[in-house]
Amino acid sequence: PIRPLIAGNWKMHGTGADLPELKRIANGVDGTKSDSPYDAVICTPATLIDRAVRTVVGSPLAIGGQDCHHAEKGAHTGDVSPAMLVEAGASYVIVGHSERRADHGESDADVLGKANGAHAAGMTAIVCVGETREEREAGRAEDVVDGQLAWSVPEDARPDDTVIAYEPVWAIGTGLTPSMHDIETMHDHMRMQLKQRFGSSGARFRLLYGGSVKPANAADIFAISSVDGALIGGASLKSDDFLAICAAM
Ligand code: 13P
Repeated sequence: PIRPLIAGNWKMHGTGADLPELKRIANGVDGTKSDSPYDAVICTPATLIDRAVRTVVGSPLAIGGQDCHHAEKGAHTGDVSPAMLVEAGASYVIVGHSERRADHGESDADVLGKANGAHAAGMTAIVCVGETREEREAGRAEDVVDGQLAWSVPEDARPDDTVIAYEPVWAIGTGLTPSMHDIETMHDHMRMQLKQRFGSSGARFRLLYGGSVKPANAADIFAISSVDGALIGGASLKSDDFLAICAAM
């Protein structure tokens, strides 16, 4: 069986004032570092990673970043390298989130570079894919996701260093979710694509669903056999919500 991953994406929220809330999340995640039933990570703003890591130390909760540059260092004003995230204590990094693809014009090739950089630094890359509303309405959702998977997931990706998050753009922050059937269909399709490309290891990549996951719908989403966890935005900011979603796993 695939070990589930419950990932929070704090986006551009989170300052020192939120560390007590993070501590409540760390204390509420099930199990201990050695016997937790699922992996859990909160991806904080880069400025908070170091303090977040110190806040959750000893708990099963990991800390991640939300983006990185592809290179280890260099003349890239304002960017943060994978090695810097690792030094701060991050073990995961989200790459290719739709907000980065849309707001910063990141291409699949950019995302691929970031995933490779994350791997080189020893982090697990959470590679995000997902169609827009127009693309779904045009019947192109699977084609779009196929292209993103093909061009932003590295050739040497492994189930232990790469997680795929399916986040339909129109479901993010909107309260809308695809039907359970549509989530299942897309996840089954992604699984098939990964098996075709990676062979037997393709069966072991974790496939997360993201987009308006909340306590009220988490159990239904986790009941889908091809869903191995969630990437959670808004509901990851409150310990009660995040922990209720964890409990649904
Ligand atoms: P919401 O859970 O707020 O819809 O955000 C989803 C997301 O973008 C996580 O990366």
